[in-house]
Amino acid sequence: MNNAPIISFEFFPPKTAEGMAKLRTAREQLAAFNPKFFSVTFGAGGSTRDRTLETVVDIQQAGYEGAPHLSCISSDKAEIRTLLAQYQQQGIKRLVALRGDVPSGEVSAGDFRYANELVSFIREETGDWFQIEVAAYPEFHPESSSPTADLKYFKQKVDAGANAAITQYFYNADAYFRFVDQCEKSGITIPIVPGIMPIYNFTQLARFSSVCGAEIPRWLRLRLQDYGDDLASLRAFGTEVVEDLCEQLLAGGAPGLHFYTLNQAGTISSILEQLGAGEK
Ligand code: FAD
Repeated sequence: MNNAPIISFEFFPPKTAEGMAKLRTAREQLAAFNPKFFSVTFGAGGSTRDRTLETVVDIQQAGYEGAPHLSCISSDKAEIRTLLAQYQQQGIKRLVALRGDVPSGEVSAGDFRYANELVSFIREETGDWFQIEVAAYPEFHPESSSPTADLKYFKQKVDAGANAAITQYFYNADAYFRFVDQCEKSGITIPIVPGIMPIYNFTQLARFSSVCGAEIPRWLRLRLQDYGDDLASLRAFGTEVVEDLCEQLLAGGAPGLHFYTLNQAGTISSILEQLGAGEK
């Protein structure tokens, strides 16, 4: 593994006490890899607002850095101001600032249209209190009109005050390296940490990927489909593929790895152990 890559893990806020207990178990297992922070997603339109806060507070109380995601699409400035004040009161110093997606059928009225407006607002309201992470898309955001436009808008978020970026997941390391090259040529110097999605289940992965614009390359899709109901073999193969991807990314200079955990630790621990991360 290269010099001290930044490792971070993402959770979603559990709905039940049982889910929270599972998350804590996963968190303790993953803590062995010395993560910089654990982030917690935020449902569209603020639907998980309280649970996101509770989950982040639980992380902070256990002695780790917690970072709430904050999506702005159907919020007004007063709501975001209140949330920022709550986060500051809890001693939270890092946010993942996003536009978010509005579920179909809902109205997207609000004071913010794009994530760069949220980043500017956070800076206006709270100065340098927060380390702000934003999203980046090596295979381009599904709504973007072109790669050039997507890069231009990504730069706007950085210029608005983002400190670092986490990417959408991908299975093609070249897409990441070429994206980082383009960013550097455009004067973007913040760390761009690849987002890593472990492979647990083909149907679920295919559904996520079609929504978020992450490509499952043909060779990988066909191999995964071929496993059918044999989940154990699919996971063993998927773990090997993701581990190779992580190795390539770190060898090529990626500053770290951000894992989409889906609140599970087993596969990710195997990957990180193979990479020689942590104290284990
Ligand atoms: P933006 O940066 O605003 O970009 C959205 C689109 O608009 C892009 O196509 C961009 O090119 C375009 N655009 C940007 N600015 C302009 C402009 N000025 N004019 C015209 N077009 C513009 N979603 C959640 O709801 N909750 C979460 O917790 C969450 N966590 C995430 C974590 C990560 C690491 C990532 C990568 C994504 C996450 N998402 C989450 C999903 C994210 O909200 C969606 O991908 C959303 O569609 C875009 O969010 P963004 O912040 O990248 O938006």
